Amino acid sequence: MKNRRSQIEKVSRLLQQRQEIIGQDLFLPGLTRREALYFASISHEGQSSPEPSLSSIQDDTVGFSEELVSSDQELPRSYKALHNEAIGCTRCILAESRTNVVFSDGVKDASVMVVGEAPGANEDKTGLPFVGAAGKFLDLLLATVDLSRERNTYICNVLKCRPPGNRDPMPEEIKSCSPFLTRQIQLIQPEALLAVGSFAARLLTGHEKTALGRIRGEVHHYQGLPLVVTYHPAALLRNSKWTYAFWEDLQLLRQVLS
Ligand code: URA
Repeated sequence: MKNRRSQIEKVSRLLQQRQEIIGQDLFLPGLTRREALYFASISHEGQSSPEPSLSSIQDDTVGFSEELVSSDQELPRSYKALHNEAIGCTRCILAESRTNVVFSDGVKDASVMVVGEAPGANEDKTGLPFVGAAGKFLDLLLATVDLSRERNTYICNVLKCRPPGNRDPMPEEIKSCSPFLTRQIQLIQPEALLAVGSFAARLLTGHEKTALGRIRGEVHHYQGLPLVVTYHPAALLRNSKWTYAFWEDLQLLRQVLS
């Protein structure tokens, strides 16, 4: 076990050196994509795993160590169990007013994972994310770059329950709920993430106070995965001046997809 740990640390150091010398792109012969992302995320965080779990990666199991999970809560490592845990969740006050927990829509072998803010009234009623006007617009925009929830996209939100009256998410709600999102990302392992709206964008980039307009237009990373951030489709419906920027961000997303 100790030997494996020192091997991981060596690979992690090597990756860090390669990143410093050749930049962001890493070519890792002999490693699967999942292994490469796992090692890269260790070197990204500058941490090593005390007990790497790569050897135990199965279809339904996460390959990240617990340290890389931004959570102090033990969440299940299988998709089904995580889903069940979310459905019964009472970690914050939103559990009292919700009709349905809105966990996700789309395919699990997605190339892109879209992360929105929180369910609205239609989503609360149906249990599915982005099914109202903003969601229909989002589907249309995604279709322009050949993305759809039926074929290659997974959609979810930072919060899984509707804030009453569609108010903004509270910091403690984000704190209680975001470990579910972290685990969803680890389990789905998309090729890229698309955060729509400032709550998702700030959470995933870590730029907590920066205006969305200042962090969009470049590729960020979240746990080793490329991350593009853009405006919320509901904002585009209110003011079309952001539509072109959204379209540009989709082109950026397209570029990072292999
Ligand atoms: N807005 C969001 O951010 N998510 C939804 O699911 C619906 C509207």
